[in-house]
Amino acid sequence: MSTIENKPPMLIACLRMRCPNCRKGFVFQNKSIFPLGKTTALKENCTVCGQKLVSEKNNGQGINYALTMVVFLLNLLWYCPLYLALKKNPAEHWYENDSMMWYLISSIFVVIILQPWLMRIARMMYLYLYNSFGQSAETTADNNK
Ligand SMILES: [Zn+2]
Repeated sequence: MSTIENKPPMLIACLRMRCPNCRKGFVFQNKSIFPLGKTTALKENCTVCGQKLVSEKNNGQGINYALTMVVFLLNLLWYCPLYLALKKNPAEHWYENDSMMWYLISSIFVVIILQPWLMRIARMMYLYLYNSFGQSAETTADNNK
C-alpha cells in the first residue's frame, strides 16, 4: 500500500485522467484524443500501481449525456452577455428574434468540438465512481482468479 501516500487530490487526478487507485498513472491508451476511434480506449492496467482499469463496458455514456447538458447550460454564460451586447433593438425580447436558434446552433457546435474530452471525462467519472478503491495490484490479480 505504498502508493496510497502522497496521492494528488481526487478532483485534480480525475480531470488529469489519472488512475483512480494511485492517481498517478495515465489511464488512456493515447495521450492525445486522436485517433478519435480510440479516444476512450483505456489501458488494461495502470502502469504505476497495476490497478485493473478495463471492466466490462464502462463507457460512461449516461454521465457523458449529463456533461453535454451541463456544457449546453454553460454556453449561456458567454452567449447571454454577447447577445445583450450585440442586441440592436433594446425593446426586442429574446423570443421575438432568432437568438434562441443561434444559441442552440452555437451550443451544438461547442458540444461537438468538446465531445472527445467530454467522453474522456465521463469515462473518468465512471472509473472513479464504480471502480473499487484501494485495490493493490496483488488483490486485483487475486480477484481475477
Ligand atoms: Zn494506478
